[in-house]
Formats: sequence, C-alpha cells, structure tokens
Amino acid sequence: MSILSETDKQIILDSIRDIPDFPKPGIIFKDITTLLSNPKALNTLMSHLEERYKSYDLDYIAGIDARGFIFGSILADRLGLGFVTIRKKGKLPYTTVAEKYSLEYGFDEVEVHIDAFGDTKDARVLLIDDLIATGGTATAAASLINKVGAVCVEACFVMELDFLNGKKTIDAPVYSVLHID
Ligand code: AMP
Repeated sequence: MSILSETDKQIILDSIRDIPDFPKPGIIFKDITTLLSNPKALNTLMSHLEERYKSYDLDYIAGIDARGFIFGSILADRLGLGFVTIRKKGKLPYTTVAEKYSLEYGFDEVEVHIDAFGDTKDARVLLIDDLIATGGTATAAASLINKVGAVCVEACFVMELDFLNGKKTIDAPVYSVLHID
C-alpha cells in the first residue's frame, strides 16, 4: 500500500488552480489543467496511484467523462490494463447500458458499452475521476459497472469535497488523494 508523503501531497495540491464562480456564482472550480501541464505534479500523482493499485489485481480501469479519461488512461497504461470510458449520454456508438442521476435541477445520464469489460467474468474494475462533489456521477458510474456484470473494486478521485459527503451513496470503497474541507 502506497502512502503519499505530505510533501508530495502539497506538490499535487499546489498544482491545482481554484477558479471562483465558475461555471456559476458560488462554485469554486478545481482546475486540473495546471496539474496536467506540470510534469512533476502529474508524475507524483500517477506514481502514487500506480504504487497503490499495482497489488489490487485489477482487470480494467474505468474513467468518467471527461477528466477521468486522462488520469484513468495513464494509470491503465502504467498497470498494463485496458481502459473503459463511462460517457455522458449519446456519445458511445455501440449498444449501451445507461444510468440516470439527479442534478441540482433535473437529471443527467451516463452510459457504458454493454460489452465494455469483454468476456472477463466478474471483472475487477477501478473507477476513477478527478473530483467527487455530491457523488451523483460516481454513484451512477459504479452502478453501471455492476449492471454490466463487473465489480467496482474501488472508486478513486484526485480530490474529494469532504463537506458534501458525496461518497455515502457509492456502492464501493472510496479513495481520494486530496481532501478539501
Ligand atoms: P458530482 O456528481 O456532484 O460528484 O460531480 C462530480 C463531477 O463534476 C466530476 O466529474 C467533476 O469533474 C465535476 N465537478 C463537480 N464540482 C466540481 C468543482 N468544484 N471543480 C471541478 N469539477 C467539479
């Protein structure tokens, strides 16, 4: 099990930029583009995740549209695993399974290809995204993984907004690299 030092945590945290009032007033948007363009911070993060998950006996990494694709595919390549996309509705070309979740006003929907995890029975899948806020997106994504016959072994986030307690509805253990209060 890999423990991230306080220094390394700070390197990652310092590379993420806060954008107040985006996309609407009152939201502090956590901008990870500055983490992606900082090779030292990105390498620190990805090496930590590689170290943590190399012993999990995973079959696939599944990333959430769109920032989860970036961290998820780097990690999948480092671990020699396949990568699966969980996308917003209407983007995947083949037969899909969908899951709705509620937003502040209305609903959104995520989808995965019905055969995304191939023929692997009970495929062990790590779900990954950049940030967990209310947890609605990740809860729906974890449920999709289970719906197509795989197992969501853990849900992993670069950041967790602790005050929203979003992890409570996810049907899997949750690991967040950074906790924001
Ligand atoms: P939620 O379903 O509320 O947990 O929202 C999670 C999704 O919305 C993730 O894909 C995040 O990338 C995005 N998100 C929510 N809040 C923020 C925020 N404050 N900064 C950056 N991304 C956010």
